[in-house]
Amino acid sequence: MAQDSLADGGRTDTHFGYRTVPLDDKQRMVDEVFHSVARRYDLMNDLMSLGLHRAWKDLLVSRLRPPRGARPFHLLDVAGGTGDVSFRTVEAGGPTTRATVADINGGMLAVGRERAASLGLADRVEFVEANAEELPFPDKSFDAATVAFGIRNVPRMDKALSEMRRVLKPGGTCFVLEFSRVDVPVLDAIYDAYSFKLIPGMGKLVTGDADSYQYLVESIRKFPPPEVFAEMMRTAGLRRVAWTPLTGGVVALHSGVRI
Ligand code: SAM
Repeated sequence: MAQDSLADGGRTDTHFGYRTVPLDDKQRMVDEVFHSVARRYDLMNDLMSLGLHRAWKDLLVSRLRPPRGARPFHLLDVAGGTGDVSFRTVEAGGPTTRATVADINGGMLAVGRERAASLGLADRVEFVEANAEELPFPDKSFDAATVAFGIRNVPRMDKALSEMRRVLKPGGTCFVLEFSRVDVPVLDAIYDAYSFKLIPGMGKLVTGDADSYQYLVESIRKFPPPEVFAEMMRTAGLRRVAWTPLTGGVVALHSGVRI
């Protein structure tokens, strides 16, 4: 059976939404999704989440606690796309808070660079084209690492988690914000109907691409439950692993520390 990145040993298949695909094909398929939606990605995020992604990201930033004083703080925002988490972090922190957005998709990064320029943050947020599975950064170089709504798109999630741990300074925290399991009766049925009946149609209207949004809702359902993902974080060498369900479990904020 295809496993979405529990361990690498001998796997040749994985999930692309509800389809089983060769592991080596998934990244190309994911890249097509984000190339297709890049220009409308931020608008669709607001529509799809009814604006809630802003509150979830703000909570992430409040847990990051970027220093407001002169202490330097450098965030690595993996699969950071158009830069949302990075912008919020540098805006919350002091003048020496910086962020590096690492994303595999040049289309998403291009939108991010334009946003950085229009927000006047181009000198504090840099954009690097990089695969989360092989981060082009030295060991122990970042104060914190985040990945928001990105890890489920990475074919080898175990590698991405190990890489995030590797580049963290000892004592630094890795935060993963990701869709999770709704555990509130009635809300789960509403959420299912909303996801499968409305979101692909909304995606078609706004981006002209229903299939990409069908993939996005399916990939959410294939993401492991929080206790399984927490074990993956431990296997990657992170410690003090914990998670907080948000909005009835629609999303969870996971964290783990590099000791
Ligand atoms: N973090 C941003 C946010 O919260 O708005 C963007 C999230 S978007 C749903 C997922 C991102 O994951 C896309 O920008 C995509 O290009 C990126 N991605 C997918 N596979 C990746 C990989 N192997 N390495 C780095 N980024 C990847």
